[in-house]
Formats: sequence, structure tokens, C-alpha cells
Amino acid sequence: MPRKIVARRSAIHGTGVFASMPIAKGERIIEYTGRIRTHAQVDRGSAGSAESGHTFLFTLNDKYVIDGTIEGNVARWINHSCAPNCEAVLEEDADGNKRGDRVFIEARKSIKPGDELSYNYGITLGEPHTARMKKIWECRCGAKKCTGTMLQPKRKPKAAATTGTSKAAKSAKQGAKTVKTAKRADSSKVTKSVKTTKTRKTAKASGQE
Ligand SMILES: [Zn+2]
Repeated sequence: MPRKIVARRSAIHGTGVFASMPIAKGERIIEYTGRIRTHAQVDRGSAGSAESGHTFLFTLNDKYVIDGTIEGNVARWINHSCAPNCEAVLEEDADGNKRGDRVFIEARKSIKPGDELSYNYGITLGEPHTARMKKIWECRCGAKKCTGTMLQPKRKPKAAATTGTSKAAKSAKQGAKTVKTAKRADSSKVTKSVKTTKTRKTAKASGQE
């Protein structure tokens, strides 16, 4: 991919990544690279501790993490924002090889030269989001709707929203429960993750069937 971006000091946080050329909405900008490690390997390292307030780790799937501290590229410097102009997109390996999954940063809107790139890191901690932790993971994106923290609301157990006790509501509730617990990644480290974005299967090279 031709580079249309450059890293330099950012007003949001430390180093940021900026457009050096116009980027079109939907354009794939860069892959988030780094060494592919298991959650267990990452847990034994020092990167991504909850107290550090920053992380180059990106959850790839329930088995692997992309560790941008090793062999990472400029994508690791893209900052978090509450009103981001980019999104992280997971591309799943078509053959179901979990090591083959990849993460790309794509433009959610057209971006002008000089604009800073950002996406939502989708970070939730394995511990309570206390005021102290929110401060450690402070967001300074400057968006009108900035929440002041990079930490995302944790998924609440499906509310007993409808007071009704219809069979449908009950079974929907139980169904949701099972699916969600199964999805949880096991790393105790803080990682970025693809949250709101689409999952794409890589196209098979040749037709079969
Ligand atoms: Zn913010």
C-alpha cells in the first residue's frame, strides 16, 4: 500500500499519525502489524499493563494478539478518539487459520492532508473502570462528545428491559448469555480491539464448490 500518512507529535497524545495526502472514505490505509503472539505469551510480558495508560497490543481473536511493540509499524501510533475518522477492520482468514487473521485501519470518512488519523481502540479492562483507571486511560481527543476516557462502557448483562415475561424474551436472554461468554478473550493485558466494525472473509483465490 502506498503510504499516505506520516507520524509526528500529536496534540492528542504523544506521537500521532497524520494524513500527508487526501484519503478517500472507505480507503484501506495501513495494516496493524506486529508479532503474532498468544494471549498467554502476552500475559507473561510487561507490555499493556492496566497501569501504563497505553498499549500497542491488539486482540486479533480469542487465540492471538498482535504485539505492535515487536515488529510493529507506524499504525501503532494512531491515536484513540471518541469521534474517529478511521476504524479498525478485522479480516478473517478464509481457511479459518487464526494466525492468518489481519487487522487494517480504514477511513470512515474522507480525510484531508494534515488531519490526524484516529479510531476507537475499543478498550475495556478486566477490572472495574474506576475514576482512577479512567484518568490513567484519559482521552484528550477534543471531540465534542469526548467521554474523557479511552475506556469503553462494559457490556451490561442484558437488561430485563421488557417487564414482560414472554417466552420469547426469556429465551432471547438466555441465548445472548451463552454467546457472549464464549467470545471473551483471555489476555489479562490491555489490548485494542475491533469492536464496532465489520468482519470480512478474505476471498478464496480460486472458485471451488
Ligand atoms: Zn475522547
